[in-house]
Amino acid sequence: MPTVRVFFALWPDATVASALSRIARRAAPPDARLMRAQTLHLTLAFIGDVPAERLPAIEAVGDQAVWPRCLLRLDQLGHWPHNQILWAGSLAPPDALAELANALSDGLRAIGMTLAPRPFVPHITLARRCRHAAAVDMPPVDWSVEGGVLAVSQRAPTGARYLMRRRWPAP
Ligand code: ATP
Ligand code: MG
Repeated sequence: MPTVRVFFALWPDATVASALSRIARRAAPPDARLMRAQTLHLTLAFIGDVPAERLPAIEAVGDQAVWPRCLLRLDQLGHWPHNQILWAGSLAPPDALAELANALSDGLRAIGMTLAPRPFVPHITLARRCRHAAAVDMPPVDWSVEGGVLAVSQRAPTGARYLMRRRWPAP
């Protein structure tokens, strides 16, 4: 049975993505692996590898969610030593984001998907294999969130490639 690796996410527009890329280049050490601008995203619910026949039910979970319009101010740079990730986040994320992530996770569990019981920590991975991060200021980047996507992850040694399977615009 063919499987696909999928996740719900918010995908920034090119302006937000290039602003984040610039910040990543300043903050990551030269040997880190920077995410390409067009691959930057915020994961809402990670589903993982599923049989392709589950996709219609997963898409129906996206159809039932209320995709909010909100302003996400990215104004925090963080570094997790345990997985060597440099990330951008928000000191005050809008409640709508966690509500959306929870609604998607609840919907996925209701169709029988098993999700990791991790709390939702909204972040955008900027670089991997980052052993330390430079102490640079994070100039705030304002992202007008207007919907989201179901993305397919095709992993390769050079880094994951993501395909947009569905898009949900905010009403
Ligand atoms: P690679 O694994 O090849 O380095 P990647 O992590 O971007 O690339 P995926 O593993 O397919 O690709 O993950 C897709 C998205 O889901 C990424 O944003 C990743 O951080 C996130 N993710 C992956 N696994 C989990 C998990 N168990 N819980 C929450 N989010 C996850
Ligand atoms: Mg991964």
